[in-house]
Amino acid sequence: MSDTQNPRFDLIGQPHPARLLEAALRSGPSHAYLFAGPAGVGKRSAARQFAAALCCQDDGCGVCPGCVKAARGLHPDIVTIEPAGSVIMVDQIRDINRSLNLRPHESRARVFIVNDAGSLGAEGANAFLKSLEEPPPFVYFLLVASRPDRVLPTIASRCQLVRFGQIAAAEMEEYLMSRCHVSATMATAAARVCGGNLALAESLLLDAELAARRERYLSIAATLCRGAWEGGAAGMAAEIEAAASLIGEAAGAAEESVPDGFEAAPSKTRKQEAHRRAGAAQKRELVLALGILASWFRDMLVTAAGASGAILNTDYENELEDLALPSRIDSYRQALAAVENARRKLGYNVDLGLILQAMFYELMEVL
Ligand SMILES: [Zn+2]
Repeated sequence: MSDTQNPRFDLIGQPHPARLLEAALRSGPSHAYLFAGPAGVGKRSAARQFAAALCCQDDGCGVCPGCVKAARGLHPDIVTIEPAGSVIMVDQIRDINRSLNLRPHESRARVFIVNDAGSLGAEGANAFLKSLEEPPPFVYFLLVASRPDRVLPTIASRCQLVRFGQIAAAEMEEYLMSRCHVSATMATAAARVCGGNLALAESLLLDAELAARRERYLSIAATLCRGAWEGGAAGMAAEIEAAASLIGEAAGAAEESVPDGFEAAPSKTRKQEAHRRAGAAQKRELVLALGILASWFRDMLVTAAGASGAILNTDYENELEDLALPSRIDSYRQALAAVENARRKLGYNVDLGLILQAMFYELMEVL
């Protein structure tokens, strides 16, 4: 059977990386790859599948016990490194270095997947270089980065680049409809709202809690447009802050699994890491909430301008048509600017509650 009829890698809308990885398996893979491209387009999934193929005697048959374990994230020869909070700590890299020469547990290779490789600090990156320069013949590194510009050049230059592109809108919508069993309207809305991030669009459609939070954030924006806010700016800010805190607490409380051959971190370090994880998750939720608010004001703007074909929240088309007034285009533009401005400030070390309050005061003024 030809490759096009039976692709080894199941990558949505990424023909180039799929071909490159196929060819690598045939001709003998390199020891380090950098999977680079926009967020949520399948880089992590590709890394997992390629790791399975490197370990499997049959180049990733998909059915042997090893492939099944790999698909479940339980393969003892595949270790995934994630940033603890927003950075990959030097100790995480030292753990890799220490275990580097251990033979594979049960397969022909050992694969280290480094997610968010752009979050390697200088110290971690220097420690990592040693492993990257002369790995044992059975060791492979798969680095994943949606911001490859943040990966140190000394590291990137030792990796073979696998470039991922944006997934075409039609392909993404078709996939979402079949994978999530939703209507074309919902698939289009999710794809557009998530700006082409397939992973996020998929969780928006499958994760009922996330979908409920989106509805809540949109209804806050709609209430503002109706001029019917209660509780003032502080009340609205508090509501969004509380939602983000809950998400942060859940992330902080989640147990981190320790791969085989690695020691569990001492409890003080674990607490610090839980704290960092919680902070990062809280900030991610705020970025998401403000992104949703921004999408609403952008939609009000394009609807008022008579361009409703370009709206993002296509499942709210009727409500947008009801609310958007051509005479208020300037207000919507100012509202959008206020939200974008607040979203930028989330990146700085500023009190998050104050940013939200200031934003809502401004929104109440301009709307
Ligand atoms: Zn297999």
